[in-house]
Amino acid sequence: MAKLYFRYSAMNAGKSTALLQVAHNYEEQGQSVHLYTAAIDHRYGVGKVTSRLGPQREAAVFDSQFNFFKEAPQVNCVLVDEAQFLTPEQVRQLHQLAHVRGVPVICYGIRSDFLGEPFPGSTYLLALSDTIEELKNICTCGKKATMNIRVDTSGKRMKSGEQIDIGGNERYQHVCGRCFYSA
Ligand SMILES: [Zn+2]
Repeated sequence: MAKLYFRYSAMNAGKSTALLQVAHNYEEQGQSVHLYTAAIDHRYGVGKVTSRLGPQREAAVFDSQFNFFKEAPQVNCVLVDEAQFLTPEQVRQLHQLAHVRGVPVICYGIRSDFLGEPFPGSTYLLALSDTIEELKNICTCGKKATMNIRVDTSGKRMKSGEQIDIGGNERYQHVCGRCFYSA
């Protein structure tokens, strides 16, 4: 039975690398995949899933108007990067894609923004996903990183701003809860 998966982590935990590995594993078995990434993510050019370790491949982009249930192809697995940018309605569509159309869906994303506020898409993924898994990485202090902070171009932590601001990975740091409140 097809399921909806949410694999979450703090920033810089290798989510895109993990996604590309899963895509490779499916294709190595002769199975088809379809990749999506957020249209608002311009870090590496629209329509690419890029691992910081080097590999990258093209992906279809979704904006807030895209309908996954109606438009996603009938493949062996749909993979969604930057899944925090899904709308709640799109998470519902992906849930139906798995359970009504029978297409497994694996979403990769972060849970909360640089102020500790949840992304609406991630909130719905946590509510509806059949399987929720954490990809772990650690804070500079050695504890597990669960939060994200954003820094400005001079490296100073930002305490206000828009939730969605794709400024490149170097603008974000992953920290533990303790460091989030003390940094
Ligand atoms: Zn820490």
